[in-house]
Amino acid sequence: MKKHNFNAGPSILPREVIEKTAQAVLDFENDGLSLLEISHRAKNFQPVVDEAVALFKELLDIPEGYSVIFLGGGASLQFCMVPFNLLEKKAAYLTTGVWAKKALKEAKGFGEAVEVASSADANFTYIPKNFTIPTDADYFHITTNNTIYGTEILKDLDSPVPLIADASSDIFSRPVDVSKYGIIYGGAQKNLAPAGLTFAIVKDSLLGKVSRHIPTMLDYRTHIENGSMFNTPPVLPIYSALQTLKWLKNNGGLSAMEKKNIAKANLLYDAIDSSKIFVGTAKAEDRSRMNICFVLKEEYKELEDAFQKFATSKGMVGIKGHRSVGGFRASTYNALPIESVQALIEAMKEFERNN
Ligand SMILES: *Cc1c(COP(=O)(O)O)cnc(C)c1O
Repeated sequence: MKKHNFNAGPSILPREVIEKTAQAVLDFENDGLSLLEISHRAKNFQPVVDEAVALFKELLDIPEGYSVIFLGGGASLQFCMVPFNLLEKKAAYLTTGVWAKKALKEAKGFGEAVEVASSADANFTYIPKNFTIPTDADYFHITTNNTIYGTEILKDLDSPVPLIADASSDIFSRPVDVSKYGIIYGGAQKNLAPAGLTFAIVKDSLLGKVSRHIPTMLDYRTHIENGSMFNTPPVLPIYSALQTLKWLKNNGGLSAMEKKNIAKANLLYDAIDSSKIFVGTAKAEDRSRMNICFVLKEEYKELEDAFQKFATSKGMVGIKGHRSVGGFRASTYNALPIESVQALIEAMKEFERNN
């Protein structure tokens, strides 16, 4: 049976990305060696990194003065790398979920870290508005898409201080005005590549301003100056990321991706809104296009396991909500075809008819 992959992360990748990665593992560029057994400094690997960086810049229209680097450690390591490199006196954070909270917690170890607003009062089902960003902060940190709760900041905010964004789960889902950001970072395993790769888009002029000693590996400048080759980078996921970037370009770039993502999200949200038994959990105006969260209405709650089983029997994978939220979550990343959304809606409707 065809599987519809709604996993939240690691998650669906374009089939051709997986096939090209598999091919490179067997025989990298018909060279008689596997991608897994060559040096990261091999003559034919350097172009992979160079092309991936160039496509990052092209697809996101990254202006001069920014560097793109590939790292390990996940988005979680960035939670401490950001304050390590940027926090001298004070940093500001917007708390929109568990990942945002974890980022704030790390910053507290480096100086004053203030929460400008939080949506914890409603289990992070909305994005706080009308907050004031302190103008004396070294930076303001946001999480653009809250993977667990299905909320998303869909416009590029104006900030009087450098804006730092964890964009792990919505990078490349829409065009972004990079000039409004100081750093955009994320784990690659949601919308870009297999697990093991972290990307960071860093405004060079922000660096070198803190007085503390920064360990070499945690200093952005190390990786910028060495073209992500200071030490061995995650070779295989970088190769896969390059294939995804090519796929994005061949499929119309980020404007086309955004249109498809809007179409998929609207389709599913409309089905949820018109359902008698399901209801969405995120506030309508803050709904994510990447992670669509819904639950059974109170009077149908006892059907939760039954729907989970029914959906699984119809080929749905990964629709169980995060353990801290419950209910259901359909992740609709770039690579998810609209046919999978239609199949999920069919399953929801059929289940509703039967119950
Ligand atoms: C998944 C996720 C993380 C954690 O990423 P790791 O690479 O596992 O550290 C952080 N932030 C957001 C928004 C995420 O979706």
